[in-house]
Amino acid sequence: MSAPDPPARGRAPRTHTASRLKSLLAADPGLSIAQAAERLGISRSWAHEVLTDHDGNDSRQRKLRNRPACSSCGRSTGALDGRCSLCAAEQRHKDQKAHAATRLIAWREEHGWVPTSTDLNATHARKAGGDALRRQQAAGVNAEAVRRAFGGTYRDAIEAIFGAGVQPGDGRHPPQRTFR
Ligand SMILES: [Zn+2]
Repeated sequence: MSAPDPPARGRAPRTHTASRLKSLLAADPGLSIAQAAERLGISRSWAHEVLTDHDGNDSRQRKLRNRPACSSCGRSTGALDGRCSLCAAEQRHKDQKAHAATRLIAWREEHGWVPTSTDLNATHARKAGGDALRRQQAAGVNAEAVRRAFGGTYRDAIEAIFGAGVQPGDGRHPPQRTFR
């Protein structure tokens, strides 16, 4: 047997309490649950609860049921900050898309062309130095993040943001060659 768990703040973990109760009861078949509980200094109702629900599953289920409904889809499971975990993940994804789109649009407004994946590539920008490096460092997003947010190729993301037919590098004079 390993050393007993250090006393937790408040209640001992229910699995720990359950196993101590069970060994007390096993050691003395004449002992009632109430008596075993008394020896451990816990209430009888808590002793019953840990013995019948020693992994906390039922009480977890109760807590889940009592959580407020998701503000987005109305499901009650896993609500955090008003949204369930699925809706929260969806929102994060939307935020990432919105962020990428905002940064790319800002780039075009500032520099006059649709950024290429090369423009947003840190390694390339470091090699190029000068304005290319300053632009890339100020971009606030990289090509990989754009691809991830939109779930396709960089080119697909550009069309999704700027409209069908718009291509990376559009508006740039002279056109930049990418990834030679
Ligand atoms: Zn939801």
